[in-house]
Amino acid sequence: MSKNAGLQIEVSGIVQGVGFRPFVYALAESLHLTGWVRNTSGGVQIALNGPPEALQAFLDALQHHPPPLARLDHIETLSVPPSSAERFEIIASQPRPDQFMPISPDRAICSDCRRELFDSSDRRYRYPFLNCTNCGPRFTIIRDIPYDRPNTTLTDFPLCPACQEEYHNPLDRRFHAQPIACPTCGPQLWFEAAGSGAILAQRENALQIARQWLHQGKILAVKGLGGFHLVCDATNPQAVANLRNRKKRSDKPFALMAFDLDTIEQHALLCQAERNLLTSNSSPIVLLTRHPASSIAEQVAPHQTSLGFMLPYTPLHLLLLEPESGYPNAWVMTSANRSEEPIAYEDADARQRLGNLADGYLFHNRPIHMRVDDSVVRTVHQAAYPLRRARGYAPESIHLHRSLPAILATGAELKNTFCLTHQQHAFLSHHIGDLENYETLGAFEAGIAHYERLFRVHPERIACDLHPNYLASRYAHQRATAEALPLYTIQHHHAHLAACLADNNWDSTEPVIGLTLDGSGLGSDGVIWGGEVLIGGYASFQRVFHLREMPLPGGDLATRNPARMALACLWAIGQPWEAHLPPVQTLCEKERSILRSQLDQRINTPFTTSMGRLFDAAAALIGLRPTTTYEGQAAIEFEAIADPNETGFYPFAFEGQILDPQPVLLALLQDWYTGLPTPILSARFHNSIAQMLLQTCLQIRQQTSISIVALSGGVWQNLFLLLKTLPLLEQNGFNPLIHRRIPTNDGGLALGQAWIAAAQD
Ligand code: ZN
Ligand code: ZN
Ligand code: FE
Repeated sequence: MSKNAGLQIEVSGIVQGVGFRPFVYALAESLHLTGWVRNTSGGVQIALNGPPEALQAFLDALQHHPPPLARLDHIETLSVPPSSAERFEIIASQPRPDQFMPISPDRAICSDCRRELFDSSDRRYRYPFLNCTNCGPRFTIIRDIPYDRPNTTLTDFPLCPACQEEYHNPLDRRFHAQPIACPTCGPQLWFEAAGSGAILAQRENALQIARQWLHQGKILAVKGLGGFHLVCDATNPQAVANLRNRKKRSDKPFALMAFDLDTIEQHALLCQAERNLLTSNSSPIVLLTRHPASSIAEQVAPHQTSLGFMLPYTPLHLLLLEPESGYPNAWVMTSANRSEEPIAYEDADARQRLGNLADGYLFHNRPIHMRVDDSVVRTVHQAAYPLRRARGYAPESIHLHRSLPAILATGAELKNTFCLTHQQHAFLSHHIGDLENYETLGAFEAGIAHYERLFRVHPERIACDLHPNYLASRYAHQRATAEALPLYTIQHHHAHLAACLADNNWDSTEPVIGLTLDGSGLGSDGVIWGGEVLIGGYASFQRVFHLREMPLPGGDLATRNPARMALACLWAIGQPWEAHLPPVQTLCEKERSILRSQLDQRINTPFTTSMGRLFDAAAALIGLRPTTTYEGQAAIEFEAIADPNETGFYPFAFEGQILDPQPVLLALLQDWYTGLPTPILSARFHNSIAQMLLQTCLQIRQQTSISIVALSGGVWQNLFLLLKTLPLLEQNGFNPLIHRRIPTNDGGLALGQAWIAAAQD
């Protein structure tokens, strides 16, 4: 046995509130090391004494097998003389009130808790709020830091003696688990009928009534982790149709939840990466390919080939979905709100806003402090490709490769998120929503205040979109004025480019090619951009190519009217509106003549280089989706029908900087006239865009020798286009960067804004 040595270890990252100290305690005990562990302002500090081999074994285990919820950003070790400590202890910490500490996102129920939930001999058998240091609510219940029970929404639930004991035992899985609860001392369920408000049942009986009502085809509002869901039997077409009617959400797909992976496999075709995401402790909604034999009602996701599934991430959801013979095996689980408002999360507000939507409420009395929606991801090449970053991901910081000043970036108008930076952390907020109404604006302002307090960030700079009329930009302008802070207004597509670079930890001032394609963003020249090929980096950008400008009749209204967009494109390229063309047939004669004079006289008709609108126009041109009920619907359905085996394409015309789709639209029309099926037409259109993008990259590389290509913007949610473009770029020696940690749509924009503001020195 070698002589004892001493070692001090400092660990930073998400190491508090995740069972880190008990883990260290148990590990040190098992290796017969003495010393202590404590929380500090920057993380956790450990002092160890023992033989060098045991110290090394400790370090190995720390690095390679930390507790599941911990994220170790940095480990620093220092050899010190051994002390005479005789045992290992967890010692008290003295947190300073103004210190910074990362906070764990909410985590899906762990396998240990799941086992206890269904173990009739466990004292938490069938208790809907059990949790431990490895799982359960975090961000949604934290009112302030330090993360101690009095600063959570569980402050009004004093612990019973049995919970006390577990809470104070360093060898227990619930040691210092702040949301710890049991049937004796914790939150409880009850069931209310909508309308009368009568309480029909409590606890287990409330759960049983909820299950019965759902089985009968009724719609319930269920209070969950980050807000209320509207829930119904997804295999019951009438129930789903009722929900659609009441929610006034005519086509947008609903999310689904099923008890386990096997059940999801009955409804969807899964790859291993998708299974891993579904069962991860973030537990997002994963967009999957629908199984041809699935019994999910058509109305859940009309005109789509995919279904969005998640697994039960709380004990309550597991109990609701627990299989029983004859019992439906999948629920619709959609955010409880009317159309575009934020998700309901307070009981009184839910009763008021959801009264006409739900037949009954399954409530519980654990308050939600911060509302958070479910996250949505797809997979691309066996890895996550986020579409909405919220529960399970936020507010985990995105670790930066260098320190930034404290910046608040206020994001975009639609799919808003904001971003705060602090040293090497970027806190990209959870999904806030579309800043089009008073409620969402309120959620945005409250969210910013909460993040600033939680993470002790006092912004020194503010960044916002160039568009002065975005509510997020107005907030930024007002705040910059009120607090005399420098304000950076940032072009939308430059922010997309920077967001993609930041997502990929790009740490260079070398410029890259940016294929930034989306629905709309104000350009530096006052035109609405959206089909932009840029060269640049964090500090600056240049616009190298862009789509030809097309009229946008009625401005933003055009997003809801692809048929009008199609006719506007035909008008722009001098093509007659022949009577049998689908978009011509959609509009009556009067509408067409108004549209024509609107175009001729440029009344309320700005111009746009938007790629999203070009997709809308092409889809409507071949009769796919003349009007839409949500943004991007035409393009989504256009993508859904595309034939993956079709390799034909139509060439764009390159006129200097301008990418002219005229020959593409004419060729598409020609093919439509000859009666080619729409899946072929759609595929050829998609292929045309991919080929055109390759051509732009080849031209740029010839002049600049740049071969890094960043793909960002909402159009890249189109996986058909993405999966056609990536191999083209790779086969030609380009190195494409795509989003992996933050959404490619406007939900990732704020991170790019923050980086650009930081680069303006
Ligand atoms: Zn657990
Ligand atoms: Zn208890
Ligand atoms: Fe955008």
